Amino acid sequence: LIIPSWHQFCCQIKSIYEFCKPVTQGKVADYIPQLSRFDPNLWGVAICSVDGQRAAWGDAKKPFCVQSVSKAFNYAIAASERGADYVHQFVGQEPSGRLFNEICLDPHNKPHNPMINSGAIIVTTLIQNKLDMADRFDYILNYYKKISGGEFIGFNNAVFLSERSTADRNFALSYYMKELGCFPKETTNLTEALDFYFQLCSVEATCESLAVMAATLANGGVCPITEERCIDSRPCRDVLTLMNSCGMYDYSGQFSFHVGLPAKSGVSGVVIVVIPNLCGIALWSPPLDEQGNSCRGVSFCKELINRFNFHNYDSL
Ligand code: GLN
Repeated sequence: LIIPSWHQFCCQIKSIYEFCKPVTQGKVADYIPQLSRFDPNLWGVAICSVDGQRAAWGDAKKPFCVQSVSKAFNYAIAASERGADYVHQFVGQEPSGRLFNEICLDPHNKPHNPMINSGAIIVTTLIQNKLDMADRFDYILNYYKKISGGEFIGFNNAVFLSERSTADRNFALSYYMKELGCFPKETTNLTEALDFYFQLCSVEATCESLAVMAATLANGGVCPITEERCIDSRPCRDVLTLMNSCGMYDYSGQFSFHVGLPAKSGVSGVVIVVIPNLCGIALWSPPLDEQGNSCRGVSFCKELINRFNFHNYDSL
């Protein structure tokens, strides 16, 4: 077993879960009504080790939308299929230092990285773009199910419709990128491209299913439950690298400094954290801090590093 004293380890994780419960800072996202209706007290934690040991606390079975966490998996899927060199013809590897939905590109007129909206919109257009929309959606949903070892993956149509009807910024960003020739030549229909992007933000998961997905990344792309290879080892390394430098919005540099682990957050209050070769962790609590990261999620990660030497450079 990779974590031999599983029970002791779980006692510590539970105690960190309890430690973060009284955190009451932050504000639930309210740019669409479907997100604003979430109870700020919801708090779930789940872990899955690379050899499939699992545990969960609190609201770990309640579904929520993965939102920007989809950006990490979509990149990993696109890079597994098309190769890193192809994907990075269209998107860079540099933290943008700007808001996640800002209308700005790097000096070569490419999106800075795949973890912000500009880069993520381009990356989704690379996935199975010869299929029609229905088949592409099925394809991704099945792919997510495979990465999660068959755990819960759903879809929230109300969130999708709401995202689409408040999409001025993402449309503006996409037309700007279209003018500058950022899209692959197969992408002719921006409305379809954005629909697909919004659908992937509206995919539902639970802490339990996302912990397995994070553990697949921790395990080099092989799902620890089914032992099926889902993501090639190179794109797995690449997505973890990008999560480490760009996964936590404008807090990414500080998160990397304090926590030193690859992570990705989403506006629903989700954070996935990967401890390479050890385990995946999924955290969910809707209230967000100024940077858009879950307050309880970030405080959990900091406390985890207080108690364990999981920081990338702890072992030196
Ligand atoms: N779906 C929203 C958008 O694309 C927010 C995604 C996120 O989690 N930041 O603007």
